[in-house]
Amino acid sequence: MSYTKRIGVFPGSFDPITLGHEDIVLRSLSLFDEVIIAIGTNSAKNYMFSLEQRMQMINDVFAHESRVKVETFTGLTADYCRSKNINYILRGLRTSSDFEFERAIGQMNKAMFSELETVFYLSDPRLSAINSTIVRDILKNGGNAKQFLPQKLDLSNY
Ligand code: ADP
Repeated sequence: MSYTKRIGVFPGSFDPITLGHEDIVLRSLSLFDEVIIAIGTNSAKNYMFSLEQRMQMINDVFAHESRVKVETFTGLTADYCRSKNINYILRGLRTSSDFEFERAIGQMNKAMFSELETVFYLSDPRLSAINSTIVRDILKNGGNAKQFLPQKLDLSNY
């Protein structure tokens, strides 16, 4: 009997990857054989770190975890998943506003690709205040954001 690998996609901007993202990926490895961190690119958005830098940062963090891959995509997440035959999107929930936002996206994604399920992870309460926007603000203002970033990520390389 053949076994089909269970693959989940964790889409986001990861500008930069934080402790909160890392935690969701590590926790999802108990349900999924492989997790693809998919960096979505939106030409209307201004990123702090280039796509190459964001990919490299994720590679630094998960260098020793062969079940975690990093990819980039443009366009709709649902189309990206369909094109790769992937049926699971992973998302983190920090707050009730995350929930309202994610509910609409998850339901619309499912309307566009009916086999697509969104799997939600409740944020670790110690990490639920962490978000990339505030981390970027700290960095832009010369602060030290180390405590919010994965241990293996050394921002002085970027
Ligand atoms: P987006 O560009 O879609 O806002 P992000 O890169 O900020 O994406 O986040 C990607 C995913 O990671 C989202 O599901 C978000 O809820 C989740 N996430 C971000 N920060 C945390 C955190 N501190 N704890 C749990 N999940 C988080």
